[in-house]
Amino acid sequence: MLVQEQVHLSELDKWLKLSWDGFVVHYHEIGLKGGNRRAFTKVLCRNLKNSLKRFNAQVQDLFDRLFVTVPSANFVDAIFAAAQVFGVAYVAPVRILPRSVDAMVESAVQTYNALASEKESFAVRVRRIDKSFPLTSQELERLVGQRVVDATGAPVNLSNPSILLSLRLYRDCVYQVGPKIQGVGGLPVGVTGKVLSLLSGGIDSPVAAWLVMKRGCSVDFVHFHAMPNNEEAAAGKVPKLVEKIITPQGISARLFLVPYHTFQLALLMSKVQPPFELVLFRRFMVKVANRIAKENGHQAIVTGDNLSQVASQTLENLTVVDNASDLSIFRPLLTYDKQEIVALAQRIGTYELSIQPYKDCCSLIARHPETKANLHEVLEAEKILTIEQLVERSINEMMVLTVGDREL
Ligand code: ATP
Ligand code: MG
Repeated sequence: MLVQEQVHLSELDKWLKLSWDGFVVHYHEIGLKGGNRRAFTKVLCRNLKNSLKRFNAQVQDLFDRLFVTVPSANFVDAIFAAAQVFGVAYVAPVRILPRSVDAMVESAVQTYNALASEKESFAVRVRRIDKSFPLTSQELERLVGQRVVDATGAPVNLSNPSILLSLRLYRDCVYQVGPKIQGVGGLPVGVTGKVLSLLSGGIDSPVAAWLVMKRGCSVDFVHFHAMPNNEEAAAGKVPKLVEKIITPQGISARLFLVPYHTFQLALLMSKVQPPFELVLFRRFMVKVANRIAKENGHQAIVTGDNLSQVASQTLENLTVVDNASDLSIFRPLLTYDKQEIVALAQRIGTYELSIQPYKDCCSLIARHPETKANLHEVLEAEKILTIEQLVERSINEMMVLTVGDREL
């Protein structure tokens, strides 16, 4: 967690314990989107409202920023939760003051006294968002600063103060703003489009889904399971993984659970060479995903594939898999190192669930997959398997779950 220049993480705690009227939420990338800006802020506001519902938060859209009020007992949890919502550049606690110098001085002195353990240095920094105030920012900084010195005897340090007293002047009020807590960034989920993510029980695919959500995509999920029935799959870890990814964003998602046994049985009864099985299974998943996508308006497929991480993920194999899809296949982790993926999974909170043992379909398939699948041979094998019929049957055996409590 990155915090405003002047405040160390250990001091953030002290700041957050002061009394605040709420916190401000700023977005930056959205600001760049010109004509789309209102639509973007509306989506961000809706996502924030939903993700902070559990804290009884009120979110106000103030055009250039959002302002959140919460019962004080929930303040710290709510401010950190808000920082995790995609589209948020930073959040900061705020005290709302009237536009008077006395009020600014009083609040500044109170803050200084509450934070300073001895005669720590301070600085006052003023920004006028509304320029109609009769004094300039510099004049106000000097005036308020001098009166804080008079009241506390504290030394001023403009370049590296241990306590920064930050004031922002708006048209109808003044904000005293506490330390900035850096947000997760990205774009609010829902502004970019709708995609379907292939989710295994492993480490990579939840991270891949998280990354496309971070670019504003709504995501639904499809999981192929090797359980005896859909109900057991629904009680397993995959819906929990979905929940982990979507809950911080205040959204809901659908999870399509598809039994793997129809494909597996056909494979067992056919004379397909074992090294091809994995590529055939990948293509089968992509074909099923395309069907679901067409019926539900998804514009692309997402996987957690990573170039050459495992024998099946060669350029040749990925190309043969792409050939099975009408829709684009997004692979946001293609170029990541495993350590980078693991670090992200830990940050997102999916890692612990992902490493729990799970009966993965891929583990039922040949140990030594073909690394350079030949499209012609693969297509021949699919003819023998009557693959389109298997896709149809599997779609009919599928179960759909809704995860999250927001209406879809
Ligand atoms: P992961 O950690 O996501 O399982 P991985 O590095 O183990 O990825 P594979 O298991 O070879 O790689 O799978 C590659 C991708 O294929 C996964 O990231 C996922 O998108 C998709 N996939 C694999 N198995 C399944 C499954 N059972 N259901 C849905 N998608 C799957
Ligand atoms: Mg896997």
